[in-house]
Amino acid sequence: MAVGRVVVVGAGVYGAAVVAELVRRGAQVTVVDAGAPAGGTSAASFAWTNSCGKQPRAYHDLNVAGMEAHRRFAAEGDWHHGGGNLEWADDAARQEALTGKVAAVQERGYEVRWLDRAGALALEPDLDPAALPADGIAHFPREGWLDPVALVGHLLARATAGGAELVRHDAVTGLDVHHGSVRAVRLASGRRIAVDAVVDCAGPAAGRVAELAGLTLPLRNTLGALVRTSPVGAAVGRVVHAPGVHLRPDGGGRLVLRTRDVDGATHVADDGRMWVDDAAVDAVMEAGRALYPALRAASVQEVRVGERPIPGDKLPVLGRVVELPNFHFAVSHSATTLCLHVGDLVAAEVLGEDRGDALAPFRFERFAASPPGGA
Ligand SMILES: Cc1cc2nc3c(=O)[nH]c(=O)nc-3n(C[C@H](O)[C@H](O)[C@H](O)COP(=O)(O)OP(=O)(O)OC[C@H]3O[C@@H](n4cnc5c(N)ncnc54)[C@H](O)[C@@H]3O)c2cc1C
Repeated sequence: MAVGRVVVVGAGVYGAAVVAELVRRGAQVTVVDAGAPAGGTSAASFAWTNSCGKQPRAYHDLNVAGMEAHRRFAAEGDWHHGGGNLEWADDAARQEALTGKVAAVQERGYEVRWLDRAGALALEPDLDPAALPADGIAHFPREGWLDPVALVGHLLARATAGGAELVRHDAVTGLDVHHGSVRAVRLASGRRIAVDAVVDCAGPAAGRVAELAGLTLPLRNTLGALVRTSPVGAAVGRVVHAPGVHLRPDGGGRLVLRTRDVDGATHVADDGRMWVDDAAVDAVMEAGRALYPALRAASVQEVRVGERPIPGDKLPVLGRVVELPNFHFAVSHSATTLCLHVGDLVAAEVLGEDRGDALAPFRFERFAASPPGGA
């Protein structure tokens, strides 16, 4: 299409990346968020950039491209952190699963090496040696973590400097669709914006935005939570996946910790309030202290709950909708890994650039072909 007015719904990592790429290509863009930019799932993300065991191959490749895009863009700010990821197991079955995962990703050309205890301590000197096995510790050196809120801030600042309009605290509540095309976006404030294209980057609420255009996007969102500590005087330099806890640095000496048990102890009330049972928070802190003794002096500063946007078959939903060709999606889990690369692909398609079949495995239409789980 000729460059025209595009409305991007949602200003999390996907919305910010799409807007920045649209503006770079000369489009006139308004990004609308129902709340504050980066106030949704992106602020509650473990934000581990990886493609460690992701299936199928096309999804693995998309994540690897996402990791590369972050490395290329990293020079523009300080939100991207490398150092890789350490992972080990504490019983034979889990060690076998880890060995299988390592072999499978190596076969795809993904970098990984095995370390012994001394090798892991050379990277993470403040780990308690007693918490580590003698060997069989995997290090994935190309992985890392992000500060998604800082990244969103930077992308939006760049976009608004380039002419984009940022609307905060005003939800998209209606889409005017006529003759197979979205003509206007309606906001809760009463404002109506005429559009040439719309991109749905509403994260866990993407299905509700799609519904406004008469589209059914099956989602199976899940809750997850991060436990953020007070500053810790320990050298924690990377993402660590230990058997009892997953953690990473979070800037300012703080750490974020998570486990599946914490996710399982997360609740949401009818009014939208979300919380985590205290016992699960205590347990994850204990597991962290067993790994890094310096954590004994730290306290819990924040428990942040987020809702993962998970399409029905767990794969991203990206790009143009065939039956409504000026309506586009950018919705998935792992969007902190994927955002820059996907932002580029989706923005290119909005503006009619031919990117071959890069988005083919992730099209919305696959749900019409085989509804996941009968959804
Ligand atoms: C606990 C947890 C751990 C995670 N760990 C990782 C990880 O390690 N690595 C990884 O890559 N990913 C991870 N993820 C997933 C990742 O965080 C998400 O995929 C990503 O944040 C989604 O970004 P988004 O921009 O799509 O959504 P969001 O950040 O939720 O942004 C959507 C925005 O849309 C706005 N919105 C909604 N409805 C409307 C409307 N009607 N009108 C206007 N605005 C609207 C919301 O206010 C929100 O700001 C994790 C998620 C969680 C919860």
